[in-house]
Amino acid sequence: KNLKKHFPIKGGILSRTIGHVKAVDDISFNIKKGETLGLVGESGCGKSTTGKMLMRLLEPTAGEAYFEDQDVFKFKRKNLKNYRRKVQMIFQDPFSSLQPRATVEDMLGEILKYHGMAKDSTEVRSRVIELMEMVGLSSYHIGRYPHEFSGGQRQRIGIARALSLEPEMIICDEPVSALDVSIQSQIINLLKRLQQELELTYLFIAHDLSVVQHISDRVGVMYLGKIMELTSVDELFDNPLHPYTRSLLEAIPTPDPDATTVRAVVKGDVPSASNPPSGCVFHTRCPESHERCSQQKPSFNKVKADHYVYCHLYE
Ligand code: SF4
Ligand code: MG
Repeated sequence: KNLKKHFPIKGGILSRTIGHVKAVDDISFNIKKGETLGLVGESGCGKSTTGKMLMRLLEPTAGEAYFEDQDVFKFKRKNLKNYRRKVQMIFQDPFSSLQPRATVEDMLGEILKYHGMAKDSTEVRSRVIELMEMVGLSSYHIGRYPHEFSGGQRQRIGIARALSLEPEMIICDEPVSALDVSIQSQIINLLKRLQQELELTYLFIAHDLSVVQHISDRVGVMYLGKIMELTSVDELFDNPLHPYTRSLLEAIPTPDPDATTVRAVVKGDVPSASNPPSGCVFHTRCPESHERCSQQKPSFNKVKADHYVYCHLYE
């Protein structure tokens, strides 16, 4: 609720704060139990920063977050440890997030023991084998090191690690962006199956709309620290309202080889988050920008049930 992260920019010989990067600038959304909320946008739009704040890896500048009616940003010690068991994260680059000198069994065993989920090596081993099987690997893999696995297998281990503490929610930060397209769909199908079997809730972050389309129930489209549009995945694809969402959808290549229309792509570069445009942050690139857009910030308009649009056209 009204979540913000403004990073100070230091400058001058006294290293004073001379400005702020508005990485996340006042966004509000909810995630329903058991669903997948996709967060999509170009790099630097604030999606990972949002995920890290919800994980308590970054302190928010302002805002609140509630998990099971409890204020996440106020958790200390025991409650924080408990929260960090219930909410796990999967990262983009599974290699950098795996310890290179630990076998799969050592790595998962350490986590299981720290959280009291396995008391001795026998329990560790059987749980690690169980986890490997859940992600499509086997007991054959438990004594191996991260570099012995392919990218897709490493992401499976990243998922096994996230599952090891029996979480209720997983924040997936671009989990398939570094993988080949054929492997991407395997990992997405795995995540979907696990969600059904284990009744998981996902926040799924990606820069690619076609990736979030396959896994999300609802989608939030982010641009320069703000959510531009938030609605169900079907509504977003059938009835996109925000000019930015429309440009993103038009930029998805069609599989039709006879299509001759040149598709509109958002013109220009994303402006700097340290000096975002006045009024609507999208006005410098918006094909429908009008006079008011550079002067006045739009509000997050509820257009219909479960469909929100940040744009003057829908006030
Ligand atoms: Fe475009 Fe104006 Fe709507 Fe912003 S408020 S998206 S600039 S039409
Ligand atoms: Mg990111």
